[in-house]
Amino acid sequence: MDGKSSLVEPLKRRLTLDDVAPKWAKRLEQEKKLPFPLSLKWFKWYFELDMPSKCVVGEAYGFDSSYEQECDECNTLGWRFGHSFLVRSRLELETDVQNFLSHWNEKHRPIDRS
Ligand SMILES: [Zn+2]
Repeated sequence: MDGKSSLVEPLKRRLTLDDVAPKWAKRLEQEKKLPFPLSLKWFKWYFELDMPSKCVVGEAYGFDSSYEQECDECNTLGWRFGHSFLVRSRLELETDVQNFLSHWNEKHRPIDRS
């Protein structure tokens, strides 16, 4: 996932979670283990994942929940993060991230973000 290949053309570089949702990317990267259940941090993550504008997908939209109406796929993917978090599956969260990134790169990738 990391380790950028210099063979990839810059324009075609697949966006990573770091590009799309840096706040969540950082969190997920720093916490090798998910927050301890019912801890303060756990609640913070839980509440944010439960809020369409603050969850991983929401962050990608600039902390906006408009995708709920505009994209079924994003909406579905958004809820999946919360579920994976609740069952404390790091693996499922990784899968969610990858699914979301594939969808985002395919459907919502902005033409130019710089
Ligand atoms: Zn979408």
